[in-house]
Amino acid sequence: MKRLKIDIHIQILIGLLLGIIFGLLFPINQNKVTFEYTYQGKTQNAIVSNYDSLNITILQQNSIILSKVFKQNSQKTIITYFEKSKKDNPDNNIHFKFYNKKNIHEYNNIVKLEPQKTLATIIKPLGTIFINLLTMLAIPLVLTTLIVGSASLGDTKTFGKIGATALVLYIATTVVALAIGVVLADLIKPGLAISQSTKDLISLTPVDLLTNASSIKFDIFEFLTSIFTKNIFASMVGAEMLQIVFFALFFGLTLLFVPKADSEIITNFLNALSNVLIKMVELVMKFAPIGVFALISFTIADFGISILQTLLLYVITVVLGLFIHTIFTYGIILKIATKTSIFKFIKKIQDVWIVSFSTSSSAATLPVTIETAEKKLKIPRKIASFVLPLGATINMDGTGLYQGVAAIFIAQFYGMDLSIVQQLTIILMAVLASIGTAPVPGVGLIMLIGILQSVGVPLEGIGIILGVDRILDMLRTITNVTGDLVVASTINQIYSTKNNE
Ligand code: ASP
Repeated sequence: MKRLKIDIHIQILIGLLLGIIFGLLFPINQNKVTFEYTYQGKTQNAIVSNYDSLNITILQQNSIILSKVFKQNSQKTIITYFEKSKKDNPDNNIHFKFYNKKNIHEYNNIVKLEPQKTLATIIKPLGTIFINLLTMLAIPLVLTTLIVGSASLGDTKTFGKIGATALVLYIATTVVALAIGVVLADLIKPGLAISQSTKDLISLTPVDLLTNASSIKFDIFEFLTSIFTKNIFASMVGAEMLQIVFFALFFGLTLLFVPKADSEIITNFLNALSNVLIKMVELVMKFAPIGVFALISFTIADFGISILQTLLLYVITVVLGLFIHTIFTYGIILKIATKTSIFKFIKKIQDVWIVSFSTSSSAATLPVTIETAEKKLKIPRKIASFVLPLGATINMDGTGLYQGVAAIFIAQFYGMDLSIVQQLTIILMAVLASIGTAPVPGVGLIMLIGILQSVGVPLEGIGIILGVDRILDMLRTITNVTGDLVVASTINQIYSTKNNE
């Protein structure tokens, strides 16, 4: 019998769509808490559902050091709060007191809090395996391809030219993205459209989760100094992408200065190594339909679509901005540089879109980005492997745009009128912050703290947008990686035309 063979790209797309449906069918009950506590030296399990509120208290030798009340349907915030409290107070007694109309239940010494399970959470490990495999490949791939890529540019002049062009394009597109975000936020004014009841609802988010926020400062000098790592192995262990990129570029560049006999051994070896790694990516991608399915089902089940409604206008502003930037800014650049239409381009890079959407990480997507650039966009490896890892690390147009909108949204929410100078400061800070943002999920939100600080917008505002951050993270990551590929295609066009002349 002839087996029906569905193209892998279609399979991945089907995985994504089925994942969304599956997540909607098996949502996580946010009003149920499953946990472990110790009683008379023994660990016990408990499940409490349908409570009206939960009071979490942290006791140190019977005196209260922290106490916080959570409303119903807040499992996600409770887990985050619990995990942070446990980390900060490993030896203290964490106490739960559940209230409902009829009675009160109390538990001492909570040791573990389990997220509520549904079919969508049970299959989540499949998604985690997929994301882990990609992340595992990302760092060796950045290191090998970037070294080979920079060494194969042939001479320091080409290296400098391509590097400088990439840098200029990366920064210029981020500035445009931010301008779009800021203008849209000024026009739509999402922060003014929030009703009092919604304000009350979202301000229940425990903002003291961010007590450390004030200690996060974006210091440009510290940031620049930190790129020059003193231990490349520690940087690799810590997945410090900027430091790894710096080392790889330095190493690759130095290969141009040593005798050919030496440099050849190293580049041949690293080239072979990166071939193997790219083959590994291909194999991992065979598993993508299942991985994507599992990742998306869990995210949708966990996060629910309904939360979007509370901050609808803010979400619309960010999404509209990402759309305009992707279709128009990138569309124009592509048309001018490569004469191709953005829609054809998107069709070719659809795997990159799906993987970045479901992993929310430019770094985890990087192996797929490089593979797609070589195979689908026919960008030679020496350019793809030089420009893309650099882009994945420093070029985050989607993140910048989102940070711009978020900062203005929060300012509007608190009734602040931002001056032109403050808005320009937001743009400048967000460009820097998007360079410094690590290409992994959720970091854009943390970097936003520095931006808010620079213009005096209340940091508590982070608590307001926390609930919808995940979906926006998925979407902004798509824009981030698309930007990398657009710049890589443009550079390829510029230099291949030059070389053919
Ligand atoms: N998740 C984004 C990325 O990896 C970074 C962020 O905006 O949080 O590109």
